[in-house]
Amino acid sequence: MTALWPGRGGPAIDYISAPPREGLADVRPRRVVLLGSTGSIGRNALSVVEASAGRLVVAGLACARRVEALAAQALRHRPPVLAVLDEEAAEALRRHLPADYAPEILVGRPGYARLAALAGACAVLSAQSGAAGLAATLAAALAGKMVCLANKESLVLAGALVRAICAGTGAAVLPVDSEHDALFQCLAGRGQEARTLVLTASGGPFRGRKAGELAAVRPADALAHPNWRMGAKISIDSATLMNKGLELIEAVHLYGVAPERVRILVHPQSVIHSLVEFADGSLMAQLGVADMRLPIGHCLDWPVCAPRGAAPLDLAAVGSLTFEEPDAEAFPCLRLAREALLADRAVGAGTPGFGPACVALNAANEAAVELFLNGGCGFTDIPALVSATLDALPELAGQADLGPLAPDSLPAAPLDEARAARLALELAARVDALDAACRALVRRRAAHPEEPKC
Ligand code: MG
Repeated sequence: MTALWPGRGGPAIDYISAPPREGLADVRPRRVVLLGSTGSIGRNALSVVEASAGRLVVAGLACARRVEALAAQALRHRPPVLAVLDEEAAEALRRHLPADYAPEILVGRPGYARLAALAGACAVLSAQSGAAGLAATLAAALAGKMVCLANKESLVLAGALVRAICAGTGAAVLPVDSEHDALFQCLAGRGQEARTLVLTASGGPFRGRKAGELAAVRPADALAHPNWRMGAKISIDSATLMNKGLELIEAVHLYGVAPERVRILVHPQSVIHSLVEFADGSLMAQLGVADMRLPIGHCLDWPVCAPRGAAPLDLAAVGSLTFEEPDAEAFPCLRLAREALLADRAVGAGTPGFGPACVALNAANEAAVELFLNGGCGFTDIPALVSATLDALPELAGQADLGPLAPDSLPAAPLDEARAARLALELAARVDALDAACRALVRRRAAHPEEPKC
């Protein structure tokens, strides 16, 4: 299995985790927990399970509040455990279940974490939206699972901690994000020959528009992604290119490379999902239709390659593949993400357990996107609000009472489980505090744009 894994230990690539422990990936059927099962990734994951000819079975499902959809999924698969956001959702869920099926229903963040650590489950799909997915990812890693990571924020907020936990518990991380899954496949067995990782970007619905043409775009325009059908948050992130900024941070943590070694290339057809440039200048690319069942299946069912229900790619029908540099002026979010990474690296001397600038970038962006979707700010205000938040980071860190930011506080030796659990709790509390301060600033600045900072 090591031959199918990206390089570890450097110098060129230092992948975030080892392959799954001896025997873990061989157990079939593989019992899987799907967190965020009613979202776009979760629904595709269930389709992968249903097409897996019994290799995958559902051990647990979780969503926030879409209890009707969750009940329908649960009735098909009858997992013994479900989880929802709060007691009200749990009550509503119970009303939707028949008398002959009474699964345990867990609630809230502790409930998601318990489900992520479910005994007997092998793989956990972390597909909750946004920063809220971090706690469950950490719980799955602490429990030594195969963590199929669709929640990129987990690495944006706490990449080094996830790495440290995996070293201690033997958890394995597989990236569901299509670009990172493509890199994973290109790097298999050849990681130490890699020079540059090239993340492709579709360019989103506003590709080709100049900075001045973006101020008036509305949520409906921004939600209409040309190639992928996705949730609202990630669709807006694709339109601003913040999604690619977050993916840059994700790649740095997953593959253990400096930000300078990750290049972003706009490729409007979304046929090449990403590329690796090797030491001799040659490139390896991973191609396929834009169908999330492929990367999800590659991770959940790893290392089995089997039909996922997606149509094969017809290159003759595609005709031509084109590439261009991103427009940094029209889409400043890419630059902001790089700046956040560099700011955290400057503070953390290369081993950030907690990157405050990346936390602020993500929190400000989530808050600004929510405002934009609700008519509370304009499209070009999103990068402006994120930038203002990064500028205010020293004051915000003071307000959030973060204590010493100590990004390099992770010990070099593998963490034992108790220490890892304690660190994860401490870090989650710090992320929450800074996250809340950043969101409050964004809402204040959007309501009173003339107010002096902080
Ligand atoms: Mg992606």
